[in-house]
Amino acid sequence: MLDTPTYRPCPSCEGTDCTPWPQYSPDNWQVVKCDGCDLTYLRNPVEYEALEEDFAWEVTSAAKTAKGGSTALSGIAHKIRAATIGLHRDKQAKFREWFNDGHVLDIGCGAGNRIQPPITPYGIELSTGLHAQSDKFMRAHGGYCQHGAGATAIWEFDQCKFDGIVMFSYLEHETNVLGVLRGAHRALKDTGAVFVRVPNFGSLNRRVIGPKWCGFRYPDHVNYFTLSSLTNTASKAGFDTTLINRFTRPVDDNITVLLRKSAPQ
Ligand SMILES: [Zn+2]
Repeated sequence: MLDTPTYRPCPSCEGTDCTPWPQYSPDNWQVVKCDGCDLTYLRNPVEYEALEEDFAWEVTSAAKTAKGGSTALSGIAHKIRAATIGLHRDKQAKFREWFNDGHVLDIGCGAGNRIQPPITPYGIELSTGLHAQSDKFMRAHGGYCQHGAGATAIWEFDQCKFDGIVMFSYLEHETNVLGVLRGAHRALKDTGAVFVRVPNFGSLNRRVIGPKWCGFRYPDHVNYFTLSSLTNTASKAGFDTTLINRFTRPVDDNITVLLRKSAPQ
């Protein structure tokens, strides 16, 4: 698969000088820290075409389940799922408040029901099977789902169309971070906001557990943000960052932020 490796520059500052993280680089994967801006990223990601079919989320998840899956774990998973449903309801209330019951785009929307009416749901999804599911749901509620990669499909929507854009466990997968953020800036109303949730590379867990930290996924995760590197990257696309999980963030395995358009210079 990696016979002819191509190394990408830093997805935030485009620098090519970097320092390897050998302890976080199993097999042939090369996770590095940019010497210019400190962002940690996967230097040799796979192409989009492979992600669409071979490494699609539902395929890697199914493979993980097939490998592990003890009864005890299933019980825990069930409890986590029950707790997640509660979180999901809470999230809907927040989305309604932040996005004013308007038009909301979910990038990397999966099966497509993260955004619920009365919000009008739109989506972008790379996986062929999931796109079909989400498009059906979204059309039934006034929106639709675009099939494709986030950083290109985002440019197909009208300018200033959305009250909100959701990037839920998405940006860590996106090789063209600035492309999608700049596209989001264009597609967002001036009063709108972008919700971003990514694994927290700065978390205590990552420092303590190291290579076994839950945020590492090869080759799915191609960017490993800290609050600082996320804020810095978002600013390059014209956004100010507000931290949402500010009390729990140091020990939280995720960072949750809202991005709003910076005032024109
Ligand atoms: Zn950089």
